[in-house]
Amino acid sequence: MRLPLSLLAVQILLPLFAFSGNGKTPKSEETENTAVKRDTSSAVVIYDAEAKFIPSSEYDVAFYTDMIDSLVQLDTVPVALINQLNVYRNLTKRKRSELLYVVDSIFESPKVPKPVVNAVNIYLNALERELAAPTGFYAHVPLDGSPYPANAFYKDWNTNVPFPERNNLADFDSVLTLRLTNPELDCGFEVPFKGILTSHFGWRWGRNHNGTDINLNVWDPVKAAFPGVVRVARFYKGYGRVVVIRHYNGTETLYAHLHRFKVKAGDEVDAGDVIALGGSSGHSTGSHLHFEIRFQGVPINPATVINFGKGTLKQEVIRLERDGSFLAVVPDRENEAPLVYEVQKGDYLYKIAREQGTTIEDIRTANNLRRNEPLRVGQKLRVGT
Ligand SMILES: [Zn+2]
Repeated sequence: MRLPLSLLAVQILLPLFAFSGNGKTPKSEETENTAVKRDTSSAVVIYDAEAKFIPSSEYDVAFYTDMIDSLVQLDTVPVALINQLNVYRNLTKRKRSELLYVVDSIFESPKVPKPVVNAVNIYLNALERELAAPTGFYAHVPLDGSPYPANAFYKDWNTNVPFPERNNLADFDSVLTLRLTNPELDCGFEVPFKGILTSHFGWRWGRNHNGTDINLNVWDPVKAAFPGVVRVARFYKGYGRVVVIRHYNGTETLYAHLHRFKVKAGDEVDAGDVIALGGSSGHSTGSHLHFEIRFQGVPINPATVINFGKGTLKQEVIRLERDGSFLAVVPDRENEAPLVYEVQKGDYLYKIAREQGTTIEDIRTANNLRRNEPLRVGQKLRVGT
């Protein structure tokens, strides 16, 4: 059992943290539940004779600074712990969306000392759920105060041009993970139009076809795929009447060749809201919905994300990696036989989970790993289920 161990450790180390008082010192007469919750969130656990502090997104830079300032005044300065807190403090300064990009570069250098790698590993483990979703996804209110969804990923809010910015694909050196839906937070999915695909994503007639065409009749209702805010609703060149929605999950979706608008730029929409009626405006042969999914302007094949026949989302979490001028969804390994991965030098759980298309929690469960258990080079891990 993890909890008793953690409680024990807290008791052992409590004098060390007397400074962090804030009137928050656990009291024995409190109900068990309250005490457990508090102790877990501020726990210091002893592991391998090394004190470790469990980070949380609730702690800010000032919190870590105060803690470090207090620790250096102790008779026996806990250097390892202070170094660890320093790493957390530095990581806390990063936006969560930014962490996705910077973490890999930290590990690229062979000179990064092992304790730092461990500290980063612990930090990522503690925040793994938050890392899976971009800033602003959680509540419908972006954390940076912007009125627009997923603002951390985008430079501006352009209501005239469908995709004014296009990310330099060189930035996608590693895999990017996006959580598309989160039922707990009421961020759902609805198929824009359930129907037969008449044209696929990719190279077509000597140029890129950046979306998927779905057969429909004029006046058929077209729905928003995910919750978000309408960025564009206008007539635009070959797209005809087109709607672009920016979603809280970080993606943008486009709906083209529409007949009638049911929304305007700035409207907040939920998944499944009717945003337009289908048609054949713009360059279109016969009525159909041209549908695109993009991240920072870079197209993703919608058929790898959505099953248009069934009207379902293929994966709640997608992993994207660069593939020519597109972003490709890395296939999940749901239907594959169990795989064994051998831990390499410099590996950490978050990295392995991303590369193997699984989650930290799944690897832990499959291998009976304790929380924050260090990995050994050569260790065999079951990945994939
Ligand atoms: Zn099309």
